[in-house]
Amino acid sequence: MPLIIRSSEIHAAGCYTTTPIIKGTLVVEYTGPRITKEQGDEIYDDSAVTYLFGLGDGRTVIDGHGTAMFINHSCDPNCETEEIDGRVWIKALRAIKPGEELTYDYLLYDGDDDAPCYCGAQKCRGTMYAPPEIETEAAKANSKRERKKKNARRNNSRRSRPGSTSPLSE
Ligand SMILES: [Zn+2]
Repeated sequence: MPLIIRSSEIHAAGCYTTTPIIKGTLVVEYTGPRITKEQGDEIYDDSAVTYLFGLGDGRTVIDGHGTAMFINHSCDPNCETEEIDGRVWIKALRAIKPGEELTYDYLLYDGDDDAPCYCGAQKCRGTMYAPPEIETEAAKANSKRERKKKNARRNNSRRSRPGSTSPLSE
C-alpha cells in the first residue's frame, strides 16, 4: 500500500495514502517489538513519547516501529484497528481518497496524562481517551467493547506540541 509520512494538520507527522483505498482493506500492520506492559512502563516511564499499542491479551504491547505508528488519532476516523492472530492491522472503515490522511480512534485507556484531541472533527470529544461508556461497559468484562478497549492503543505522546515534527522518522 503506497503510504507516505508528511506533516499533518492534526499533529506533527501523519500517514497519507497516495492511492485510493477500498473500504475494509487491511491498510498497514502496526509493527514493532512485542514487549510486556510492565516493560513498556519501565522503558517509557519518563518519556514524553511512546507508541505502545496494547494487544487483546491485556499483557503484551507493541512498541511501535514503522509506518503505522505515525497514524494520528481522530474522533471521526477513516480507519479502525483489528487484531488478527496477534497481529494488529489498520483497516479502512470507508473508501479513502488519494491524499487523505489515515486516522483511527486511539481509544486510550490506562494513562496518567491528559491527552487532549485536536482532530477538528465536528463530533470531537476533546480527548483521545475512550469515551466513558466504553470504559463502563468494558468494566463488565463481557462485552464486545471490552475487546475494543483492550485493543486500544496506549499512547502518551501526541498530546503536546501540535504542529511540531515527530521525533522519530522512517
Ligand atoms: Zn477529536
